[in-house]
Amino acid sequence: MASPSQTLASLHQLLLRLKEIQDELAHGPRQIKVRQNALQKRQTELTELRDRHKQVKMLADQKNLQLKTNEAKISDIRTKLNVAASNREYEIFTGQIAADTMANSVLEDEILEALTKVDLMQVEVKQAEQAVAAAEAELRKITADVQTKEPSLKEREAALKDSVANVEKQLPNDIAPQYRRLAQALGVEALAAVENKCCTCCYVQLTSQRLVELRSGKLLFCTCGRLMYLPPGDSDR
Ligand SMILES: [Zn+2]
Repeated sequence: MASPSQTLASLHQLLLRLKEIQDELAHGPRQIKVRQNALQKRQTELTELRDRHKQVKMLADQKNLQLKTNEAKISDIRTKLNVAASNREYEIFTGQIAADTMANSVLEDEILEALTKVDLMQVEVKQAEQAVAAAEAELRKITADVQTKEPSLKEREAALKDSVANVEKQLPNDIAPQYRRLAQALGVEALAAVENKCCTCCYVQLTSQRLVELRSGKLLFCTCGRLMYLPPGDSDR
């Protein structure tokens, strides 16, 4: 029959391993969430960029249409110019042609500017598409990794839980209820080894009297609230 201290020592080891496994299990979904958020951010950036790209393209198209309309108008006025009935009419037509030609020259500059912007933004859209694809690949990879590891982690978790339950059954009746309350509140932190006469949780030194009691097999709670135990290999020296 193991001493209470030995029981607590093996219980603590099992609880520590269980916590490790549970932390790893919890880490997986968090890793996935981080990648999902990153992907969402990239997708939003891409959508916004595509919208702006579309707007710039539409603006270029509108200006182009305006240019064509003006050109048609100029050609129409030229026809009228050829058959002008008076000098006054002739002057009006030439004035209109000059004004529309000027307007078109401005429009042509603006169209060129808009088209240059369209080209530049096309490159940015391509880059944003690649960023989305990379984020998708990363998410797929992490998800697959997590899913691959999960079954064996769950198995180990279940086995450790069984072992913990078995060892807990060996706890003396006078300590078991208190231990359970503590374990419920603090988890693996419910237990603390005593090393170099100190609680390894709060580092308060035990009096010689309490150390003797602990070594004689009595179970003691530290002032920090943890149930203390002597690790295997502790000697009476
Ligand atoms: Zn303590």
